[in-house]
Amino acid sequence: MHVGKLREIATALMARPDEILLEVGAGGELLVARLRAVIAVALLMLPLINAAGGGGVRETMIGLGGAVFINVFAQVWLALARRSRQLPWLPFVTTAYDVSVTTLILVVLAFHHLPAALNSLIVWCGYVLAILLTALRSDGRVTLFAGALAVAQYAMLVLAVFAVASSPEQLLSTDYGAVTLSSQGQRLVLLMIVTLITAMVVYRMQRLVEMSGTDGLTRLPNRIWLQHRVPRLFDHIRENGGSLTLALIDLDHFKRINDNNGHHAGDRALRHVVSALRDQAEPGEWLVRLGGEEFVMLLRKPLGTAWERVDAIRQAVSEKPFEVERGAEPMQLTFSAGLVGYPHEGLDLSNLLRRADHRLRLAKRQGRNRVIARDS
Ligand code: GH3
Ligand code: MG
Ligand code: MG
Repeated sequence: MHVGKLREIATALMARPDEILLEVGAGGELLVARLRAVIAVALLMLPLINAAGGGGVRETMIGLGGAVFINVFAQVWLALARRSRQLPWLPFVTTAYDVSVTTLILVVLAFHHLPAALNSLIVWCGYVLAILLTALRSDGRVTLFAGALAVAQYAMLVLAVFAVASSPEQLLSTDYGAVTLSSQGQRLVLLMIVTLITAMVVYRMQRLVEMSGTDGLTRLPNRIWLQHRVPRLFDHIRENGGSLTLALIDLDHFKRINDNNGHHAGDRALRHVVSALRDQAEPGEWLVRLGGEEFVMLLRKPLGTAWERVDAIRQAVSEKPFEVERGAEPMQLTFSAGLVGYPHEGLDLSNLLRRADHRLRLAKRQGRNRVIARDS
């Protein structure tokens, strides 16, 4: 694989997830929390089965204590996962918990019988599960963190067991076989491989989410992106102040281009306008393709200033002629726009879009190629 590609994957995995990924990750966190709660309840059965099968009272009580501990935490994580969108640290903490509980059980096994700690396959699989489940959080940092923590904790356990064992016979067991350094090394390598594979799954998921929020023709963010991004933007403005204006933009007489010159020319015209709009956009101004030849521009400006900006952009776009075909007479492409201000003219996206659409239709009725920020 190309070195540049590897660097790109590493950067993507270490990046803070964007709004849509955070949403996907929060859903994943809740799913993992529910799964953990179900597994915890199932774990309660084990000491009871042990007791029914004639196991010792002390063993049963230790098992029961452990299962209750795991259930209490499973319920705490479940309660927190329901509002995990506001808790960016939660996936890290729950993942650290999953890995550490596995280590804790292995330590308890070590006190019972040294080879059991290192050669028990079932409990060791707790690490693999903890790493695999990070794929549902769709955050590369959580996956790499889980892998690093599992490798570090297990390596320390291996070193500790080998240090404690006073003779090689102590590391031999009829139930668990012989504990060897090479087989333990292989387990560590296996954990690293599982981490890498899980990280690749996260990377692919990130690319899919990115694609679902991007329009294929113009590469602009699309309606899905807008629906996820805007609520966060509203929160930010409510908490920190500032203004936001939403401009609904619709190209004028666009159907004529399709009818007269074909859809291919229509697509090229769309890309032409988008490139002109992109050239104009400044930091704090976002452009979204809502669908068809309709766009939304978000501006971190009050309504009056935003009107001046959008009108200047309208002017600039109309002065950039579009060549339908090579050598053909260049044509003028124009748009009309309706503007609304958040929060005083609407508190949610659909209300704002409705009011903006009303003003847009007014602009069309008044002759097109104009920007309107009032109802009459
Ligand atoms: P108006 O000034 O009233 O907006 O007139 P209009 O012709 O632009 O009317 P309207 O907005 O209703 O029509 C939009 C047209 O845009 C319909 C469709 O043929 C065309 N269109 C929408 N999306 C695309 C696209 O992705 N590619 C092409 N080529 N055409 C598209
Ligand atoms: Mg339209
Ligand atoms: Mg139109």
